[in-house]
Amino acid sequence: MIIIFSGPSGVGKSTIINELIKHKDLYFSISHTTREKRHNEIEGTDYFFVSIDEFNNLIKDNFFIEYEQYGTDYYGTGKNQIDVSNKITVLDVEVNGASKLLKNNKSFIGIFIDIENDELIRRLETRGHNELFIKQRMNLANKQRSKINEFDYIVKNVDINTTVKNILDIIYNLEES
Ligand code: 5GP
Repeated sequence: MIIIFSGPSGVGKSTIINELIKHKDLYFSISHTTREKRHNEIEGTDYFFVSIDEFNNLIKDNFFIEYEQYGTDYYGTGKNQIDVSNKITVLDVEVNGASKLLKNNKSFIGIFIDIENDELIRRLETRGHNELFIKQRMNLANKQRSKINEFDYIVKNVDINTTVKNILDIIYNLEES
């Protein structure tokens, strides 16, 4: 089973997935990206960090099941991340990539994580972003929400424990069906 998590950036997808992995033995798909590694990230665990040339070569080699530009950076899911394990595979991709994957692969399950606008603004402020950046992100979030109907499930991230419980319930139900 392949589950795609998506939603506006800042909703807390990575935190949610990290918590989920503590409760259930899932395989987290590791994407390639051209963005800079953050200080707390580990190469080959969070992402495979590559140069733009390396990324372009992977595109030429038909390596990706999907890839997108997000901001100034590129992100892509390698075909080798899909069905690599007999565990449920979990993907964290932005909305355009998720939308394409869900259209092309009818058996993939899409979960859209959303959040109230006030809370999204608060989180972006906490990350130290300025007013213009926050305004752009809010516009982007509204654009991303226009694809919400393409997803199988919508989960509002109000508090992390409830969100994780709700997602685990979805997964258990899927496993039973
Ligand atoms: P970040 O730079 O904060 O780690 O991720 C930025 C965005 O890229 C997030 O919305 C994340 O879901 C998305 N992303 C991460 N990996 C992939 C991928 O392989 N493909 C696509 N389309 N988006 C990705």
